[in-house]
Amino acid sequence: MAWKRPLHCCRSGKKLRHNGWVQLKEHEPLGPKTTMRIGGTARYFAELSTKKDAEEAWAFAQQNHLPLIVLGSGSNTIFADGEINALIARVSAQQVQRTNEQTNKRTTIAADAGKNLPMLVNELAKEGFDLSPLTGIPGTVGGAIFGNAGQGPSGIWMDHFVKSVTIYDGAWKSLNNEECGFRYRESAFKHWATTQSPMIWSAVLQIPTGDPKAIQMQIEHLLQRRIETQPHQRTAGSCFKAVGDTPAWKLIDAAGLRGVKKGGVTISEKHANFLIGEKGATFHDAIDIVNTVKEKIPEKLEVEMRFVKPDGSLAYE
Ligand SMILES: Cc1cc2nc3c(=O)[nH]c(=O)nc-3n(C[C@H](O)[C@H](O)[C@H](O)COP(=O)(O)OP(=O)(O)OC[C@H]3O[C@@H](n4cnc5c(N)ncnc54)[C@H](O)[C@@H]3O)c2cc1C
Repeated sequence: MAWKRPLHCCRSGKKLRHNGWVQLKEHEPLGPKTTMRIGGTARYFAELSTKKDAEEAWAFAQQNHLPLIVLGSGSNTIFADGEINALIARVSAQQVQRTNEQTNKRTTIAADAGKNLPMLVNELAKEGFDLSPLTGIPGTVGGAIFGNAGQGPSGIWMDHFVKSVTIYDGAWKSLNNEECGFRYRESAFKHWATTQSPMIWSAVLQIPTGDPKAIQMQIEHLLQRRIETQPHQRTAGSCFKAVGDTPAWKLIDAAGLRGVKKGGVTISEKHANFLIGEKGATFHDAIDIVNTVKEKIPEKLEVEMRFVKPDGSLAYE
């Protein structure tokens, strides 16, 4: 494995602990790794391309008593300003394997967690495999599994396609769909018993088959709808979960909060559940606006976005 490097810090060049292989960077800027582009630096940052990388990153975080935060494309995450005292690890493995296994007009594929979801949707459409209900959701397969991404409370979510998920939490495990504890915008991974966040490494997906042209048309239709209803700016998607069947944007709109601004963060005029960060916006601005919305709306609003504090814990659990 000549291409691998010993576990070491990029800036100091010092070897860290055991003779491992994963490369760690120190004080790595996090803003550019998220779609809102807000946030400071990671005490340590690692790209995980192999299972061995995952094992070593986990061991490093444990030995150094650091929280381990797994990042996908950062399209639902916002980091605090300053330094996050944690190991932030991004799964960059992104292979997709076709198994050619067909059951009940469904085909089975295996995808690594780092695979970009919109790319997967498009690539599979050309082969007549229909993941179109997940059209237009930025991020990775891992992120979509973690948050059970989908199209609102009555829509189709990621769990509709998941047969099993391979994770690492100090040991490699395979969980079937039921064991993943999927619900609306929820999975068991959000509430894992260990202090370290489990790493979703890959998933086996079962995907309906169909006519490639019809699937492509449906994708274009859904993308068009998004262009009409969502802002194309620095955002992390929906900030709050729906309350029952009521979308959060309706409650925010009814409270007259559309367009409200705190520092560099605004509630989008186009979609009232989207926060928009302008250049120079801070974590504090985003927290300020979330707290304003929570105060002004009588319903108990749950925060969907992940607000990571300097100690690696979440601002809203
Ligand atoms: C314009 C826009 C539109 C959006 N529309 C939708 C929508 O329609 N429906 C929807 O559900 N979401 C939507 N989102 C939100 C976001 O795209 C999804 O939540 C997406 O699934 C997040 O994936 P990610 O890889 O970017 O995750 P990240 O933001 O990187 O991470 C999100 C959470 O998942 C965890 N995580 C990520 N990868 C892993 C892994 N491999 N192992 C363990 N934990 C992991 C992280 O720790 C974090 O807690 C939208 C976002 C934007 C910007």
